Order: sequence, then C-alpha cells, then structure tokens
Amino acid sequence: MAVVFDTWCRKCGARTSEVSNTFLLRWEGGDIGLMHPGESWQLENYGLTLDKAASKGLLRLSTAYACRECGGISDVKSLSPPSEGTVVGPILLILLITCFAVLVSHNPWLCVLVGLLGFVPARYIDMYVSRKRALRKYGFPVDTSCQHCGSPNTLKLIEFLSDKKARLLCSSCGERERVCGESWIS
Ligand SMILES: [Zn+2]
Ligand SMILES: [Zn+2]
Repeated sequence: MAVVFDTWCRKCGARTSEVSNTFLLRWEGGDIGLMHPGESWQLENYGLTLDKAASKGLLRLSTAYACRECGGISDVKSLSPPSEGTVVGPILLILLITCFAVLVSHNPWLCVLVGLLGFVPARYIDMYVSRKRALRKYGFPVDTSCQHCGSPNTLKLIEFLSDKKARLLCSSCGERERVCGESWIS
C-alpha cells in the first residue's frame, strides 16, 4: 500500500507528488520504477512476478524518508525480500506426516488433522527462512540519513506527516511547505 502526498508551496507555487513507497526492478545495472498498483503487470514484460523478482534479489523497495532537521525528502532503497515462501517446507511436512500415518500410527485421520494444523506454521517458518536467505544473499547496507543535509535524524515520510504541523522542504525555492492533500492507493 502506498500513500501519495500532494504538496503545494505557498511561496513559489511549485507542486509535487511524493509517494510513500514504490517498488523498483533491478535490471541490467539500473533501477526501473514500477507503477503502483500495476507492478505485476509490468513485471510480466520481464517474465517475472513480484515473488520471482524478490527471490532472485531483483526487487527493491524505495521508501521516502523525511528529515526532521531540514524537511528534505530522501528516497531510500532497500532489498524487498520475498513475501511468500517456497512450498518445499510444507510439502516435506505433509510427506513426513503421511509416512508417520502409514508406518507408525494406526490413526491416519488424526495425522491428516495434525498435518492440516501444521501447514500454517510450516508456511510461516518457510517464509521466514526464504526472507532471511534472500536478505543474506542479496542484501545491501541501507542508509536512511538525509540526502540534503546529511542529518541522521530522519523518519519515514508517512510517519513524519502524521504530525499535521510537519513541513517539507520545497525543492524549488527551499522554503518549508505544508502538505495540501493525500490519497491512498492500495
Ligand atoms: Zn536534512
Ligand atoms: Zn517553493
């Protein structure tokens, strides 16, 4: 989910639209911006899905941070790990329980029940392992400090603007401006 903040500078009249977060595709040494909510459709052109791109370390998340000192906005890139695990873990679990049902226990229905109950946690564990693996393999250091003044005192734009008095730095005239509109896209 992303939020678009429209800004309008009272001093110079400049208008901007700041997006809280967007996905980027790492492709041939560059980053290609993916438009929300059509990411999956765009990725199809590259023979990818969101999850395929994520598990290959090709999906990045660009998150807008605002600086508490100067009000400047910085786009911070980070690796977006897969949000779905593989199905290997859960399938192994089902096989194990089936073997147990056939060879050891004489109550296969109970095993089916245990298998079904175990499926959800198995998927969670599997997802956790997939994310960890992708982050270890493709992760890179993320620097959230302000790209305008260098201050480390930043926070996510969406949190920054939850304070209605917060003002952003106008990129045209350098004045502080107030957000004049916001819209949510899910
Ligand atoms: Zn700053
Ligand atoms: Zn301005």
